[in-house]
Amino acid sequence: MEDLEDFSDERHKAWCIHCGKALHATTTNKDHVPSKSLLDRPYPGNLPLVRICTACNSGFSDSEQYLVAFLGSVLCGTTNPSLHEDSAARRILSWSSQLRETIEKSKREYRTHGGETRIVWSPDHARISKALTKNARGHIYHELGEPVFGEPTSIWTKPLEYFTPTEPNEFEASDLPDVWPEVGSRLMNRLPSGEDMDGSWIVVQSGVYRFNVNIAQPLGIRIILREYLAAEITW
Ligand SMILES: [Zn+2]
Repeated sequence: MEDLEDFSDERHKAWCIHCGKALHATTTNKDHVPSKSLLDRPYPGNLPLVRICTACNSGFSDSEQYLVAFLGSVLCGTTNPSLHEDSAARRILSWSSQLRETIEKSKREYRTHGGETRIVWSPDHARISKALTKNARGHIYHELGEPVFGEPTSIWTKPLEYFTPTEPNEFEASDLPDVWPEVGSRLMNRLPSGEDMDGSWIVVQSGVYRFNVNIAQPLGIRIILREYLAAEITW
């Protein structure tokens, strides 16, 4: 990705964007946005980094591992790591037999009227929401230059194949925002240059991860993972 400079207000960089703790008073880590485990190797260059507190950083790993392993299992129809193409999902499922078992238990096979066998998976919405919210907060902070605190007012996820005929157009709505972000923020720099953008979407890795920042009210982030899962997190 393009390494865009951020000229937004320095005062917004003093706190952990997830818990609001003052960063100077605690141990911190740099965290990639989006999380590397949601991407394929080789990773895009200049992935955004956000400094957050160590407690938050380690607190997200369970949810993120679940999201990667669950999505990977849905996409290839099995929890067997040796059949996974996504290296992060393969690694997580090989390493955690407990997580593999949990995901396997959420799988159900059924026969269609036509006699075909289909598989459906029941997601753990709490863990998926937590992982997506973490990335959404990171995108807002990185693109707009200021954090969003408090719990989201809504978190919505849906596989693209469940979209009704009109939903893809509404979700993709490629018009650029008709309100403009703070001068100096990365999003403000992207809009005229179109850096890493496809319509109003910021493409982190084609076919793997893209997102859209809605700066009107409600403030929101839309994410599409592997052109399979659509999500919207709003504040
Ligand atoms: Zn924190």
